[in-house]
Formats: sequence, C-alpha cells, structure tokens
Amino acid sequence: MTSNAHVEDGILSDFNATREQFFIPEGVIYLNGNSLGPMPRGTEAALSDFLHNEWGTELIRGWNTKDWFNQSNTLGNRLARLIGAEPDTVVVGDTLSIKVFQAVASALAMRPERRIILSDSGNFPTDLYMAEGLIKLKDKGIELRTPDPEAVEEHITEDVAVVMVTEVDYRTGRIHNMKRLIEKAHGVGAVVVWDLAHSAGAIPVDLAGCNADFAVGCTYKYLNAGPGGPAFIYVAPRHIDTVEPALSGWHGHAAPFAFDLGYRPAGNIEKMRIGTPPVAAFKILSVSLDIWDQVSMQDVRDASIDLSETFIREVEARCTQLQLASPRDPLQRGSQVSFAFEHGYACMQALIDRGVIGDFRAPDIMRFGFTPLFIGKSDVLAAVDILEDIMTSETWRNEKFHRKSLVT
Ligand SMILES: *Cc1c(COP(=O)(O)O)cnc(C)c1O
Repeated sequence: MTSNAHVEDGILSDFNATREQFFIPEGVIYLNGNSLGPMPRGTEAALSDFLHNEWGTELIRGWNTKDWFNQSNTLGNRLARLIGAEPDTVVVGDTLSIKVFQAVASALAMRPERRIILSDSGNFPTDLYMAEGLIKLKDKGIELRTPDPEAVEEHITEDVAVVMVTEVDYRTGRIHNMKRLIEKAHGVGAVVVWDLAHSAGAIPVDLAGCNADFAVGCTYKYLNAGPGGPAFIYVAPRHIDTVEPALSGWHGHAAPFAFDLGYRPAGNIEKMRIGTPPVAAFKILSVSLDIWDQVSMQDVRDASIDLSETFIREVEARCTQLQLASPRDPLQRGSQVSFAFEHGYACMQALIDRGVIGDFRAPDIMRFGFTPLFIGKSDVLAAVDILEDIMTSETWRNEKFHRKSLVT
C-alpha cells in the first residue's frame, strides 16, 4: 500500500495510520462505506467506558457530570470542519429523514408566499417522501417538482420557495455544483436545502464559502458512527435568529428545564434540536471523529480519486460487460463509482460471497465506495481480480445469488 502522508492545513494525513484504526473482518474488502461505515476499533472501549463509567454509575446525573446534554453541539462543532461550516451552526441528533423535514419546513416558512419545492429525480426517495408529507400537512397547494438532475438549474424560477437537493447522487455519484446552484437560487429569492448524505466525509464541502442556507446529512455513512447514528443539521449564521424550527421539541427550547407550557425557541442553533438525543450513538460518533481529526478533507479527496480512477481503469479493461454509470470526470463525481450491469444484483451477491462488499441499487447499478480512511490501492486491485473472475466464470449465474434479501 502506498503512503499518502503529507502535511496540509496543519494536518498530517496518514492513511496507513487511519486504516489501522478500523476493524475490518479478515478476508473482507469493504467498498461500502458509502452506505454504512465500518467500526472504528476504539468503539468497544468507548462504549464500555460509557456503560461502566457513565450510564451505569452516573445514571441521570450523567446529563451534567458527563456533559451529555451539550454533546449535540460539541459534536456538531467537531463535524463542522468537514463541511466548511462556521462555529455554532451545526447540531447533531435525530435521523436524516427528520432533519430533511425540519430543514425544508424552516426554509418554506421563510418564503410563505411561494408554492414550489424544487428537487430532482435523482434525489434519495426519503427526501422526496418527507417533502410530500410536509406538503400534505401544510395543505396550501404546495407542489414538489422533480426534473432530471441535469435540468434543476434551469427550473430555478421566481416561484420556487425552496430548492432541496442532494449534492452527490446516491446512485451515480454525480455532483451538483453547490456554489452555482446557490447563486442562481438566491438570484430569484429561493432558499436552498442541501442533503450532504454522500458528501460529508466524501468530498470537501464549503457551506460558508458557498453562502449555503441549510444543510443536513447523516453520520453512519462516511462518518462511521454506526447503524442508526445521528444526523446533523446546519443553519447559516444569518438565518439562525429568525428561522422557525418546525419541530418544536423541548431540547430546542430557550429554557428546557423551565418546563414552560409554551414553546420559545433557543436563540441559537440549539433551536434545531428536538428531543432527547442518542447519547450511546454519540460516543461512537466521537470515536470516529477522533480519526477524522487526523486527516484533511482535501487529502481524503485526492486519495479517493486515486483509488476510484484505478478501479475504473481496471474494471473497464478487464470486465467489459460492465458500463460505467458514474461521471467519467472525477471532479464531477463523489467518492463512489457505479457500474451498470444487467445482472448486477446477482453479480454483487457473488462478490459479497467472495468478501468484496459493495451494494446494489435498482434497476441495475453496482455501487462501490472508495474511502481512503480504510481502503488502499491493493484492496482495489484485489477486488477487481475477484470481479474479473466472477465475470469470466459467470458464477453470478448460480441461483443462490439471485435471491433477494430485505435490505440490498
Ligand atoms: C442515506 C440517505 C438518507 C437516509 O435517511 P435516514 O433517515 O437516515 O434513513 C436520506 N437521504 C439521502 C440523500 C441519503 O443518501
């Protein structure tokens, strides 16, 4: 494996060192950190410490003595660097679907006279579903428009209240141009909500520099906080004073322990908190962020491009039945690479059977994530060897690889 150690932004990114900090089972090449990041080795000790020295012994006192109450903000501030957010603009908690709802509701309330939410047909379905639910609830004839991703910018017109887009397409990895899209939206007075599910920890993001309004994302993908790990929400400093938190829970109240009968939002980003957060999951996120603290996002991006370019070159040379479904220009795609293959589902099952774990997205997309934190070039080459063998021997035809599981 090559060493990518060099200094940037005062951070020495050493991917040989980060790699040692993850537990990857023997015989597994894990190319699915884009769906669920692997477990940092420090998780076991951190959770054990939490059980024995926090929850077990401190009980309810832990909210104060172990600072559980402030973790939504503390972790938000630690995560902020990865997405180019200013201090005190990010809180962590709840799930991404809920944070999407919350951000879009807050954004809509800023443009009460407008009736259009603009998204695109490449967005992750839950984002669209949450917008549909919100529209129904508001019962004001709001319309959700979903043009092709390539046509979003031309659909940003003066009747659009909110543009709700996922920066990196979950299927193809195609990247929306954040700065240009925000400029266009602001030019017609629309508010923009970014879903960073496939950006945070995958590509450098500059929310402050792009003049973003709202952003949301999850921590169980590239940020390795474990299944069900909490989501995050960002609100631009210029909006925090006035934004209305549509989900007005007690943890977002100005004085949660006054137990007032009426809701009064906190005067800062805490207003986007809702209810009691998942403190055990916070512990895992904190361990993962200890690893993230050791790398710069630009180094991660450079190393990821190097890995994905190698993968594409090798697959195209050796597995000609597979068609690249991601943008060819690495600057136009996130850190995942997708190939279309008619029998992609069975082929992915055959790969997983041999220890190469990627995933499948209907109708025919085989998806592979390249995360330098725990993947090296030798892994990429070994994965292509196995893929080539499966394609040449056509082992994907085996009936056992055609059975569908509940989760793909
Ligand atoms: C993964 C993902 C989600 C998942 O939402 P959850 O509430 O965490 O299940 C939502 N949106 C996008 C764009 C995603 O990639």
